[in-house]
Amino acid sequence: MTDCIFCKIAAKDIPSDTVYEDGEMLCFKDIRPAAPVHLLLIPKAHFDSLAHAKAEHEALLGKMMLKVPQIAEAAGLTNGFKTVINTGKGGGQEVFHLHIHIMGTPS
Ligand code: AMP
Ligand code: ZN
Repeated sequence: MTDCIFCKIAAKDIPSDTVYEDGEMLCFKDIRPAAPVHLLLIPKAHFDSLAHAKAEHEALLGKMMLKVPQIAEAAGLTNGFKTVINTGKGGGQEVFHLHIHIMGTPS
């Protein structure tokens, strides 16, 4: 989606402070952190939100979920962390490219 800021980050058209990347996903620091560590994990392929996920996204979403604790540990969140997926305007979503917030305080 051409006008999507997270697609532009995934394409490296907009810089981000990347902490993890593979062929399917990218994790970078939130520009307005709400916690000492605040990361966003996105799929490189665009879909708007969890409410727009389809059966074809099942494996990707599973891989992302399994990657979250690895990224959290690498960021120093060894005592636990919070994950948030805001979905839709009523769910507080501002950027309509699916993303998982990973937040916490390094122990
Ligand atoms: P949400 O409300 O779940 O859609 O969260 C969107 C998040 O994206 C917010 O926490 C923003 O601070 C963050 N954000 C917006 N633009 C950027 C950017 N260019 N780089 C990093 N984080 C961003
Ligand atoms: Zn996008």
